[in-house]
Amino acid sequence: MSSVSPIQIPSRLPLLLTHEGVLLPGSTMRTSVDSARNLQLVRSRLLKGTSLQSTILGVIPNTPDPASDAQDLPPLHRIGTAALAVQVVGSNWPKPHYTLLITGLCRFQIVQVVKEKPYPVADVEQLDRLEEFPNTCKTREELGELSEEFYKYAVQLVEMLDMSVPAVAKLRRLLDSLPREALPDILTSIIRTSNKEKLQILDAVSLEERFKMTIPLLVRQIEGLKLLQKTRKHKQDDDKRVIAIRPIRRITHIPGTLEDEDEDEDNDDIVMLEKKIRTSSMPEQAHKVCVKEIKRLKKMPQSMPEYALTRNYLELMVELPWNKSTTDRLDIRAARILLDNDHYAMEKLKKRVLEYLAVRQLKNNLKGPILCFVGPPGVGKTSVGRSVAKTLGREFHRIALGGVCDQSDIRGHRRTYVGSMPGRIINGLKTVGVNNPVFLLDEVDKLGKSLQGDPAAALLEVLDPEQNHNFTDHYLNVAFDLSQVLFIATANTTATIPPALLDRMEIIQVPGYTQEEKIEIAHRHLIPKQLEQHGLTPQQIQIPQVTTLDIITRYTREAGVRSLDRKLGAICRAVAVKVAEGQHREAKLDRPDVTEGEGCREHVLEDAKPESIGDTDDLALPPEMPILIDFHALKDILGPPMYEMEVSGTGGDPVTSNTSSLQVSERLSQPGVAIGLAWTPLGGEIMFVEASRMDGEGQLTLTGQLGNVMKESAHLAISWLRSNAKKYHLTTASGSFDLLENTDIHLHFPAGAVTKDGPSAGVTIATCLASLFSGRLVRSDVAMTGEITLRGLVLPVGGIKDKVLAAHRAGLKRVIIPQRNEKDLEEIPGNVRQDLSFVTASCLDEVLNAAFDGGFTVKTRPGLLNSKL
Ligand code: ADP
Repeated sequence: MSSVSPIQIPSRLPLLLTHEGVLLPGSTMRTSVDSARNLQLVRSRLLKGTSLQSTILGVIPNTPDPASDAQDLPPLHRIGTAALAVQVVGSNWPKPHYTLLITGLCRFQIVQVVKEKPYPVADVEQLDRLEEFPNTCKTREELGELSEEFYKYAVQLVEMLDMSVPAVAKLRRLLDSLPREALPDILTSIIRTSNKEKLQILDAVSLEERFKMTIPLLVRQIEGLKLLQKTRKHKQDDDKRVIAIRPIRRITHIPGTLEDEDEDEDNDDIVMLEKKIRTSSMPEQAHKVCVKEIKRLKKMPQSMPEYALTRNYLELMVELPWNKSTTDRLDIRAARILLDNDHYAMEKLKKRVLEYLAVRQLKNNLKGPILCFVGPPGVGKTSVGRSVAKTLGREFHRIALGGVCDQSDIRGHRRTYVGSMPGRIINGLKTVGVNNPVFLLDEVDKLGKSLQGDPAAALLEVLDPEQNHNFTDHYLNVAFDLSQVLFIATANTTATIPPALLDRMEIIQVPGYTQEEKIEIAHRHLIPKQLEQHGLTPQQIQIPQVTTLDIITRYTREAGVRSLDRKLGAICRAVAVKVAEGQHREAKLDRPDVTEGEGCREHVLEDAKPESIGDTDDLALPPEMPILIDFHALKDILGPPMYEMEVSGTGGDPVTSNTSSLQVSERLSQPGVAIGLAWTPLGGEIMFVEASRMDGEGQLTLTGQLGNVMKESAHLAISWLRSNAKKYHLTTASGSFDLLENTDIHLHFPAGAVTKDGPSAGVTIATCLASLFSGRLVRSDVAMTGEITLRGLVLPVGGIKDKVLAAHRAGLKRVIIPQRNEKDLEEIPGNVRQDLSFVTASCLDEVLNAAFDGGFTVKTRPGLLNSKL
């Protein structure tokens, strides 16, 4: 049945041969184009053509297009669908092809194929009407009941679908607005039909036939849907049953019914956790958060990553010592005894710590500045902290802050962060298990800064007694009261502690030890400790004081006693081997065939010597006991001495050899060398300053890792000497009083690896240059420190105790210090003061007079102070 339509398709159409899918009028389909003729059609009609007409194709179904255009056209399906190409998408992968989006317009019938290459073109006859506006009334009249029946089924089908899907709602509207004769085609392409069925519908040119053929397809779909809905309902019922069972299970598992044997392990854990939360004494706010979190946890599947996170969080919350504390047993007298027993010397520190503890005892609260022990490594800062905890009967925890540069190290990571954890403070509390431990914040001067925030700022909150009662760690996200924690900080220097942090702390300087103090510490504390650690007894090893002094002066160079402790450890290890070997030999000697050698108590560590049983009464001991550690043994165990005494062999040091004094006199055998005293975070140091001059243009060269302040000191010293050249008869090589005339000066500060900055080398530089220009030698037993001004005044400097100790260690005899530092001499132990003579200088004249034999100026003679302190 053909009909004339108001809209006409062209009477000659290019043919697109398709094999998969059947395009029905009114529907849209995507088809892939990759055969030769079809590709040609797309290229020349769709891609090159510009008119609307060129986008209309005749789509012939069920006709495979031959791969190459050399092959003949296969027999074409008689009826096709005129289609509008809506979209062309080209691709080269895996082979050239196009994907076309085509919308069916109407049926046509091939009248005659007019050409086959490069793509087939045929004269066609339009079979369907193609109307611009729907004309439903007319169709209804024409088809009567059949159309009504079809419509009924169509509506029934659409209503069975989910109307909330926009496409279904749209279809429902289309059912009423589209011409009835368009519906069979559209619905056939929507419902589940095979290609064969679609082809039959396409071939059903008569509308009546088409309606008749589509109705069974609709009915089939409706039945299918009904069946599907039925089974779905069953399934839903089943689901409901499952859901109904679960809450019942939950109810049987409420806390308190732990005995239930069916409990699986994880549920057990959660119940335990819940119980712990209920019984824990955490503050209300924390409790609320925990209850909320556990509720969430119960709803979470265990496979969820958040499950483990939440559980860890809750476990931490119940473990934290919210209300658990130890009772302080503070007895100042006992504390004093304990501190004295554990630590030799450090009187100032012990006094201040006792004061601090006494105030705590009287006031019973901890508000007040945080103590910060500042001093070189190995002087016992950490160990005093530990003793404080012991005297108070509190737990001790050390938090190493060296190198920490992320504020989350202190305050934790937020829980949203992958791998989040609490900060060190909360972690420490968890470790000690009480809320009033002693926290030692070690190395606060080595806190770093980075993009991750400033950890010092985070520490401020921790240390501030006004704020720390509700310290909030990011991970916990609830406040924890830190006000009961006793914080003690340690540092090597205050210079690098951020000022705001420094402001919260009371600095107690812990200077380095003198040699005598070190010997005492070694014999009272370090040696007994090492013996115990190595399973030795005093009957097996004997370390005389001279040996200890030898270790201190020739094997270590430090302000504290850490290296000394290590060296003593090395000695104990070596002796332990000998003792163990001796025991072995003794066992052998018990055998009758071994004859007893001659008694000999010679030093056993020289293995070449015959070792034998001594005439000791105590047979339980190996014969050579106690092993005496003398100079030779020391050399055997620790190797040759690492350091020689820097300066002279007469510095009250019984073991110093003559080589060192030779060395020093060598260094000071020319004009232009002086010994200064420097302070470093590792203690005091002596420092040689060397100067030389050469022909040049008045330039000053400085070498040896210097900071800016040091350079300024050098310029000051030169200016002062130039302005006083006449007074002191200082001349250049050519005899001129202008010291820089045709002369270059080079100043060198050896030990290039150590950065030196600080004004305290001013007097040393001036003395060294005065020696250079006067041609006189500086006394080889003098060391000096002090800042200078342009007018030649000497200003006070810091670190006097450490510097004086360094001079003493180096065996010097005379120390020149600024007059205003005289008060600092009080801190210096009596024996050191006795060994040294101090010159206090207020101006450079006095310094020079004291530094050169026979004074420097002609007019005035300096008052040389012999220490009476
Ligand atoms: P710091 O914290 O200052 O670097 P430590 O506290 O770790 O030093 O001390 C290092 C070792 O030296 C410890 O074994 C300590 O007991 C010991 N020590 C340091 N000073 C003394 C002292 N005055 N009396 C006894 N032992 C000391």
